Amino acid sequence: MQLTIRNLSKTYPNGVKALQDVSLDIPTGMYGLLGPNGAGKSTLMRILATLQDADSGTATLDDINVLKDKDAVRRLLGYLPQEFGVYPRISALEMLRHLAVLKGIPGAQQKEVVNALLERVNLWDHRKKAVSSYSGGMRQRFGIAQALLGDPKLIIVDEPTAGLDPGERNRFYNLLSEIGENVIVILSTHIVEDVKELCSNMAIINSGQVLYAGTPDAALTALQGQVWEKAIAKAEIEDYQNRYQVISSKLVAGKPIIHVLSETNPGDGFQAADADLEDVFFAKILAGQLTV
Ligand code: ADP
Repeated sequence: MQLTIRNLSKTYPNGVKALQDVSLDIPTGMYGLLGPNGAGKSTLMRILATLQDADSGTATLDDINVLKDKDAVRRLLGYLPQEFGVYPRISALEMLRHLAVLKGIPGAQQKEVVNALLERVNLWDHRKKAVSSYSGGMRQRFGIAQALLGDPKLIIVDEPTAGLDPGERNRFYNLLSEIGENVIVILSTHIVEDVKELCSNMAIINSGQVLYAGTPDAALTALQGQVWEKAIAKAEIEDYQNRYQVISSKLVAGKPIIHVLSETNPGDGFQAADADLEDVFFAKILAGQLTV
């Protein structure tokens, strides 16, 4: 399986260029699509999920034309949208059985398939409760169960960990990491940790443009030796932002520690820092803004 996206563009009627000439090669395994809010991630996910049309460009899944042959894509697709509506009072079990019918899973297999999925996402004990009463984490696990119905080969999950607490997020990571190596899983997120924990390949997008595509490791290696850190006073932040390319600032015990990008040692009390994926993300976004 291979998803090949070439020169995909989409401009909304209000003039927002949500995607500009996006080209990506997405192999099997977990693929992270990382970008801040408004980057164009959901637009790309909805186009790949056949829910929205692109203006131009192509997308092919092996030999399927994703933009034209929508029925063929839908047969292979599992989609967890950013927000999904659930009916009040309908239990997870009823809902999954209903969706299994819609997915065309043969009657004799429905019960077994649904039960296995409920076990797999660890909701068996809660199967008779209304999905609308679930916690955020349970709801997202239910979302994965419905996305996995019918053995999809292309799975798209859009911002799945937003709003989950750390424990729920970890359970969700474990679930995603078990999906398997032989399918394509695209994880769209603005949370760097999601990609760090799960993805063997990634892209960073902002303003509808691809700023990086490759492995997280290659991005980290490229940045090694260029990230410097220093603890400063809160009042100094603006001054440092004016003088350096500040890519992040974190509070540690109430004191800001800034990371700056520089090919040479800036001196001034800065120390070499190990680049992390967070640095990659902000460095790429900063570089993207400087070239616009
Ligand atoms: P992300 O998922 O990365 O947050 P989106 O794809 O939702 O990004 O949005 C990309 C840009 O397109 C944003 O500027 C957003 O405001 C705009 N946008 C999204 N959907 C629409 C729409 N239906 N009509 C007009 N603008 C939209």
